Amino acid sequence: GAVVHWFKMDLRVTDNTALFCASEVAKEAGVPLIALYIVSPQDFEAHLTAPVRVDFMLRTLEVLKEDLAKLDIPLWIETVEKRKAVPGRVVELMSRWGASHIFANMEYEVDELRREADMTRMLAGNGLAMEVLHDTCVVPPGRLTTGAGKQYSVYSPWFRAWIRHVHENLQLLELVSPPAPNPPSTRKIFGELFECVVPPAPESKSLSPEEKEGFRALWPPGEHQAKKRLAKFCEEDIGKYGERRNIPSHTGTSNLSVHFASGTLSTRTAIRVARDLNNTKKLDGGNQGIQTWISEVAWRDFYKHVLVHWPYICMNKPFKPEYSNIEWSYNNEHFDAWKEGRTGFPIVDAAMRQLLGMGWVHNRCRMIVASFLSKDLLLDWRMGERYFMEHLVDGDFASNNCGWGFSASVGVDPQPYFRIFNPLLQSEKFDPDGEYIRKWVPELRGLFGKAIHEPYARGAAALASKAGYPKPIVEHKGARERAIAAYKRGIHAV
Ligand code: FAD
Repeated sequence: GAVVHWFKMDLRVTDNTALFCASEVAKEAGVPLIALYIVSPQDFEAHLTAPVRVDFMLRTLEVLKEDLAKLDIPLWIETVEKRKAVPGRVVELMSRWGASHIFANMEYEVDELRREADMTRMLAGNGLAMEVLHDTCVVPPGRLTTGAGKQYSVYSPWFRAWIRHVHENLQLLELVSPPAPNPPSTRKIFGELFECVVPPAPESKSLSPEEKEGFRALWPPGEHQAKKRLAKFCEEDIGKYGERRNIPSHTGTSNLSVHFASGTLSTRTAIRVARDLNNTKKLDGGNQGIQTWISEVAWRDFYKHVLVHWPYICMNKPFKPEYSNIEWSYNNEHFDAWKEGRTGFPIVDAAMRQLLGMGWVHNRCRMIVASFLSKDLLLDWRMGERYFMEHLVDGDFASNNCGWGFSASVGVDPQPYFRIFNPLLQSEKFDPDGEYIRKWVPELRGLFGKAIHEPYARGAAALASKAGYPKPIVEHKGARERAIAAYKRGIHAV
């Protein structure tokens, strides 16, 4: 016999709810625990998983395999081409291993919930049990409701309720124990499982050798690296996070999103560590930087709660249905310029090139380019959402979809549609010395002072043009008016 833990977006040994439960059940039954990971190339396609993200996860599996092996727990990695075939394959594997129970942490996107429901039914039909547990959010979805019993759609009151709930249920932040080691005899019984190797990325998701080298230096995989990064952030930056988090040229944010997205770090651990640093049991007390950081990590929970309550956002629909009728421009030349960082707006181009260069973009700049795409270019925000997913190392459906919804004013707790970022003002405010622009837009490296934000209008036209930097593809004031009119028409068309 055996008990199985199915790893998905929870690629860590410590502080892992379902892994611990699986281990307890195995221990009680006196059988070994087997860890399973399923590579589904079709899922990667369907979910637009970025090659840099696939690479990060596969490298993380190497770390995970080693950590589990120290506990005599094998990690079996199975490639299942078609995602529909996953449940059937799991039943086969479980029968082969004589396993009666499988555990997993819950993923809240519609496809995943459906798959888990199918799987639970199929397993039950075969006399097998599946248990899917809450783990990825600090407060499980469904727990927080307004006085009228509804799901919150505005962050601030939700956040107050979230804090209150955590304070009343401090066990939500407790560290989950690691799994117990298997008996050493497991290596004899399941010897072949220990031989499993991590497969290469599917062809369509593989990186070039140069990309591999660059990205691997940027994104060290696995939970030990995650903890190291958390510790460093807590030591060096968290205290000043409040003041520096909006400056994209600073490394003042935690850079932990890749770890939260892959589950190499739990938000529970992150928030507990931050809180303890504050020497208080309160999440809303002590150092302002720490408090602000905790409130940012909470956004991740908020968006997952939103996704669970309004699952239609998984089906290409805006959260606000009255925003379904906006007539987007579908100008492909503009879209290409945006994608490649050739819009002639230095701050936008810097951010889009950071996306390609790192697989990550600073939050302020994600908002700037999302607003620019949906408002200044009047392009369908879903084109941008999709492009982000295809390139982000931290691509996470709820955070990305809701981040786009916020910026394009079609989402939950949105920017009002008539509040449109002025890219020039954003640039001057958040990259005052142009340091971020110079880093990512080499054509403008020779520019200093105010010209860097708007080279063609500020006396640097000759230099910019000689360096091959494009002129602005739209004029902001006119574009802004066009967007407001289009949004207005769209809303009234309903
Ligand atoms: P920190 O500032 O250190 O914040 C700590 C953690 O809090 C982050 O790692 C993240 O998990 C969470 N967090 C912070 N801000 C947000 C936010 N606005 N929404 C949700 N969670 C947040 N984040 C993703 O993880 N994946 C995405 O695919 C994603 N797409 C986005 C798309 C758009 C258009 C926008 C505006 C934001 C998006 N974000 C996304 C949120 C945010 O930009 C990133 O989480 C953040 O930049 C990651 O850097 P960090 O880890 O240094 O963040």
